[in-house]
Parts: sequence; structure tokens; C-alpha cells
Amino acid sequence: MVRAFEQGPIRPPSEAYSLLLRLTRGCPWNKCEFCHTYKNITFSRRTVEEIKQEIRNIKELATRLQEASWSLGLGGRMDQRVVLAVLKQTGIDCTQLALWLSRGAKTVFLQDADCLIMKTEELLEVLQFLTETFPSVERITTYGRAKSLLRKSVDELKKLKEAGIKRIHTGLESGCDVVLDYVRKGARAEEYIEAAHRVKEAGIEQCEYIILGLGGRRWSREHALKTAEVLSAINPEYIRVHTLAVGPDMPLWKKVQSGDFERLSEDEIIQEERLLLEHLEGIRSQFICIHSLNLLNEINGRLPEDKEEMLGIIDAYLALPEEERWNYKLGRRAMAYQCLADMQNKTIYQQVQAAVENLKAAGRLEEALEELRRRCV
Ligand code: SF4
Repeated sequence: MVRAFEQGPIRPPSEAYSLLLRLTRGCPWNKCEFCHTYKNITFSRRTVEEIKQEIRNIKELATRLQEASWSLGLGGRMDQRVVLAVLKQTGIDCTQLALWLSRGAKTVFLQDADCLIMKTEELLEVLQFLTETFPSVERITTYGRAKSLLRKSVDELKKLKEAGIKRIHTGLESGCDVVLDYVRKGARAEEYIEAAHRVKEAGIEQCEYIILGLGGRRWSREHALKTAEVLSAINPEYIRVHTLAVGPDMPLWKKVQSGDFERLSEDEIIQEERLLLEHLEGIRSQFICIHSLNLLNEINGRLPEDKEEMLGIIDAYLALPEEERWNYKLGRRAMAYQCLADMQNKTIYQQVQAAVENLKAAGRLEEALEELRRRCV
């Protein structure tokens, strides 16, 4: 009998059209104070046989989708009618699987937070079975914690690359040890650098994630400078930037409430981002800020050639009169704007301005911005 297959809660933005294959559940560390993603999931490993059965199951559902497409006269194309037909037959929603097939079934993302915790030989067996079952797969990626990477030799990582793993996503978050300790990240800057060097030597691409504002007001400068230093030492293919948003379901919330952790204002976060970007030296990385949590979504470019242009966007924002910055911040957080240029729309600008004035009069502007940002997590 065909069964629904498991999916974990998150994937990187670049894996929107990938098959999500769950090898482990939850996060084996699960202690970071700014993270709520896996707090309600007990970490567990799946056996190789269980994962193989899951892959067989996915294959069966993929076949049903293809058959439904042909019987609907769509010649193998996927659309909502195909998904509905398979839903009727099996009771399983195959929307993501249909999307994957429609894109050529080329990319797979391994879930959840740290599949590299698996033994290398088990991981290799799974990867081999996956690519034999779906020969169209060209790229497999996964999250990988520094600690787990450090348990793998360069030779093991090379074998994983040959078996299909082309990119590893790592949450560096900060290059500053004081900050890493404070948020209980469970790894130090030196470990991130060593892990990244092994990955590079194995020829696997790296995407490092960082969080603006993670050092709070106390360590903002150190956080920016040390993070730039570590990223410069790693030279990853991709740097993905997120902005801190703290909610009641995160351990850091208590420190915010007690006053021990002081969050930066939106403008202070942008100043921190400028300091970080300015100090990224000698690397060839794609710097990516596209995320709903980031105020300046349009800072995206290749280092080093686009650095001045990206700094220019930050400077243009910081040079705006205060009133216009408030307008932009609220407009962006309320999703009325995607980027600074959207403020040129006078109708939307005036609507946002009316909301700014109302919130200011009620003394709730900062609080509303924080609340709106939290909703993007
Ligand atoms: S290691 Fe990653 S997934 Fe695990 S708790 Fe920390 S941030 Fe969350």
C-alpha cells in the first residue's frame, strides 16, 4: 500500500523545488536559544531500510502522478488536476512531489537539521539507492552542523560528493565566540573554519548562514567584525543573511524579557550589516539577503565586485530623513514594500505614512515593528 512520506519543517530557500527527503528527525543539538524550529521534535534517526522504503514509496507516488497526467491527456505535465486525481486515489497530497517532477526531478534536499550525523557508510547507501531509483537527480544538498562535519574526514566527504552531495548549508550565525556561547550554539569559530576547510577540500559547495542582531546591543560590533573575519577565512560560495527575530517560543525570549539581551533597532541592524559587509575581504562569495526577515531585501551581489554597490544601498537607506526611514520600516514590515524603490508609489507611501502617525501617536511604533518582524519567522 502506498503511504504518505514524511517531511520536516524547513528547507533552505534555494530548495523550494527540491524533493525533501527526511533521513533524521529534528536536531541532535536543539539548544540554540534563538531557534524554535525543532523544539517540539525529539531527535531520532531513521534506519537505512526505513529510508529506502520511503524512497520506494515516493517512486510509487511519482509513478501514480505520471499515470494520472497521461490519463488526463496532459502528456506527463503536472498541474492541480493531476495532484487532485492522486489525492482521490490515495488520500495523499503530492503537491510538492508534483512540483519536483515538473522541474525535472533534479534536486533533493535531505532533512532535518543535520543528516551528516549519520554514519558515512549508511549515508552512502541511502544516496546510492536514491540516485538509482531516481537517475534524474543531479544535485543533493543538506544542512550540516560544524560538529558533525568535523567527525568526517576529507576522504569521507569526497565520497559523499561523488555520491551526489553538492552543497552543505551550515548555520554559522556568528563568528564571535562570546555570542556563540551566549546563544548556546554549541560550536566555536575555529570549528566552523576547520569544518569549512574540509568541505572545501572535498570540493563541496558551502552556504553559510548568519544572523544580524544576534550579538544584541552588547556585542553588535564584535559580532559584525568577527563574523566578517570567519567568513573571510572560509570563503564560502554563498553567504545567506537573516535578521534576528525573537519570539516567546525561543529560549532567548526570557533574556529579552529580563533585560539581559537588548535587541538592536532596525537602523542599528542595518549599521551592523554595513560593518560586516565592509570587512568581508579576499573572498568570492554570493552575498544574499533575500528573506522576509531582512529590512533591505535588495542587498544581493557577488563579492568582491558588487560590494560598493551593496554598501551604496545601505548608505542610501541610512541617508534618508528619519521620517522616511520610519515609513520604509513599517511599509516593509507590513509587506507594502519589497525594496526601497517601492516608496516611490505615492499612494502606498501615504497609506503607510498614515499608519506610522497613528502608531506614533499611540506610542506603539517600535513594538509594532518588532511584532511584524516576528511574524516572518
Ligand atoms: S543547530 Fe540549528 S537547528 Fe539545531 S537548534 Fe541550533 S539553529 Fe536550531
